[in-house]
Amino acid sequence: MYKQDYQKNKTFRLVHNPPFANNYARTLLLLDHGEGCWLFDADGRRYLDFGSGIAVNALGHGREDLAEIAAEQMKKIIHVSNLYTTEAAIQCAGRLMHLGNFDAVYFGNSGTEAVEAALKFARLYALRTRGEGHHRIASFSGAFHGRTMGALSATPTPAYQDPFRPLVPGFQALPYNDIEALERTLDDSFAAVIVEPLQGEGGLRSVSPGFAEALNRICREKDIVLIADEVQTGLGRTGEILASSWAGLNPDLVTLAKPLAGGLPLSAVLVPERINRQIKVGEHASTFGGGPVTTAVAGAVLDIICDAAFIRRVREAGEYLHERLQDICDRVPLAREVRGRGLLAGIAVGYPEKDAKSRMGNLIEKMQERGLLALRSGTNILRIAPPLIIENEQIDEGCEIIASVLAEETE
Ligand code: PLP
Repeated sequence: MYKQDYQKNKTFRLVHNPPFANNYARTLLLLDHGEGCWLFDADGRRYLDFGSGIAVNALGHGREDLAEIAAEQMKKIIHVSNLYTTEAAIQCAGRLMHLGNFDAVYFGNSGTEAVEAALKFARLYALRTRGEGHHRIASFSGAFHGRTMGALSATPTPAYQDPFRPLVPGFQALPYNDIEALERTLDDSFAAVIVEPLQGEGGLRSVSPGFAEALNRICREKDIVLIADEVQTGLGRTGEILASSWAGLNPDLVTLAKPLAGGLPLSAVLVPERINRQIKVGEHASTFGGGPVTTAVAGAVLDIICDAAFIRRVREAGEYLHERLQDICDRVPLAREVRGRGLLAGIAVGYPEKDAKSRMGNLIEKMQERGLLALRSGTNILRIAPPLIIENEQIDEGCEIIASVLAEETE
């Protein structure tokens, strides 16, 4: 259960062979509680959180305000199903609709569910407006849209897809940021294109302005539904409420999830009137999606994140983080390039391709041993996605650990 900390002669709380299915790692760090940007084990050993539970805990840990809202709502009513509704769900949907020119919100419980719903809504729209034979869906190399069969079919990573073939028919992956491939491929047979403004899992690359413009134009001309998957980038993470706005994308549907309910499971698809009109009662549903507890908390999260001063500070913190990461790249030979935007950032590590993935695992473990929790993106990108409330001193502290661990590495 314990592993010795070689630096401070303390112990880590590790669980070996936890009673979970083998899809998760066989050794896990056992955490107990959190406060702000810090996480603690039961012995009080602390970790600076540069991962936010994979870009989820945007407002940090130990939020009494959110806990109180959840507790109050639980005392009133926990669940009603989508046969009925609650004031909390209506209020939350109203706030989300105003993030753009949207007319309705579909609630799910996870990112992949939001993606499934968006893909189905796009196919409904194509079927009802153009008839049969316009059902194909394009996604891009490096994309990550989730693990359920529809979202997985749009996630062209062989390690994720191959064991689960056959996939859903009608999906095609195109090269990311290749305008010519778009022009060549997207024809009348497509219902939708799904794109991440910035690829959170696939290497922290973002759409180029020209590519975004081409996507907007072709989708508009051919009435193909443009879906922006903002499960990871949405709600402030990149320094804008929606990353689509700086990326120059004009999506028809937007998927949101990770930070939406402060760590509780809630996702949303933002739907414009034109598409909503084509959806009939009973054509899609979720038992738990948009329940009163998650939506009550999400309402408060949206109030905080959508405040102009909050977003301004996220932008400042993002710029500061990028400066510090650039500084590491200037000093440490193995730190090759800064990637990402705002507080979804990273460093390309110069490991040789063949063993990059396993060495990245070791690198992140070493950082964990020194009290920093970070993430990987793609094969060789160290991904940093701290709570959006992070302070500059904490950015300094985390970056020092990153620099010292990277400086010990050789190619
Ligand atoms: N879409 C994007 C862009 C994501 O980053 C993720 C998760 O990382 C998902 C979808 C899937 O979300 P979930 O794991 O909540 O199903």
